[in-house]
Amino acid sequence: MTTTNRIYNFSAGPAVLPLEVLAEARENLLSLPGVGMSILEISHRSKPFDEIIQAAESDIRRLAGIPEGYHVLFLQGGASLQFSMVPMNLLPQDGSADYIVTGSWSQKAVKEARRVGGVKVAATTEKDDFNRIPAQQELSLDPEAAYVHYTTNNTIFGTEFAYVPQVGTVPLVADASSDIFSGPLDVSKFALVYAGAQKNLAPAGMTLVIIRDDMLKRTPASLPTMLQYTTHVENTSLYNTPPVFTIYVMGLVLKWLVKLGGLEAIDRVNTRKADKLYGEIDRTGFYRAHAQPGSRSRMNITFRLPSEELEKTFAREATAAGLDGLKGHRSVGGMRASVYNAFPEAGVDALVQFMQEFERTRG
Ligand code: PMP
Repeated sequence: MTTTNRIYNFSAGPAVLPLEVLAEARENLLSLPGVGMSILEISHRSKPFDEIIQAAESDIRRLAGIPEGYHVLFLQGGASLQFSMVPMNLLPQDGSADYIVTGSWSQKAVKEARRVGGVKVAATTEKDDFNRIPAQQELSLDPEAAYVHYTTNNTIFGTEFAYVPQVGTVPLVADASSDIFSGPLDVSKFALVYAGAQKNLAPAGMTLVIIRDDMLKRTPASLPTMLQYTTHVENTSLYNTPPVFTIYVMGLVLKWLVKLGGLEAIDRVNTRKADKLYGEIDRTGFYRAHAQPGSRSRMNITFRLPSEELEKTFAREATAAGLDGLKGHRSVGGMRASVYNAFPEAGVDALVQFMQEFERTRG
């Protein structure tokens, strides 16, 4: 395995994949063992692919302990299409859904839901520059809502729910794109969970949807076939050609997670990695975290330096030092270190060391 040219990739997504996974994909790229063709060449209706997609689904079910009565779907159109599919399938025209707004992705979800039906904002932390997650007591929830939607982790602002909102009997829907499988996930609390694959699961091209069976009854028959969840349930995600390679790589990532000890094990690693970075950010006051304590993401760690000038220098010199992708999103400024499941702890240590050295020479 040649690792000499690999740098530390702090990109928010598509993001770093486990080295073992890349190595195995490379190893088998020309010919899948026992198949004699590349994964890039085989039919999605072939037996080998059937085994791949079924294994991926069963690993997802096992890892998250998904209870009976849930469907696991692999869809296309990104998490962004779920902003539309969720209301199109679950929100009756005369109904209303509650949205908890904690950042740009929640706002985009609201925008699409409003095209379909009524939306009430159950809470928003916009006036705090989305630097925190609202507490349960701050949520003004409508007991008649068709569902409650929230974003479990805010990729851009670097905040993350440390709790699952209590919503009574109203179905709970989560966009878990940027923290899916970063720790245990109690699927039984949700009616629907969706996540773009390109951060914690796979390369880009696929969206994982976990949907409770009773939600399928809501789908209006008038919806275009491809936009109905029922279509994909009935056809086990093979109604049309799925992204075969992405699903294959996801299968390898899931096996890597299982081997590591599952979601509890990766949970501990993620806490340790994030603690190291926040510890360094908080150490002297030279660096300032964007997210308030208690709301801080373990996946996307956002921080500022004393001036924009220093931030530019930091980003430039970090890149030169082999620490890539640290420039923050333009709406927050500063830095963002995305340290998803596959991001190696040695890269976190390297960043901490770089931060200390930068502060020593520029602070
Ligand atoms: N939700 C969240 C939380 C995201 O971070 C992103 C992408 N970064 C999206 C939705 C949109 O995902 P996609 O690009 O797969 O449509």
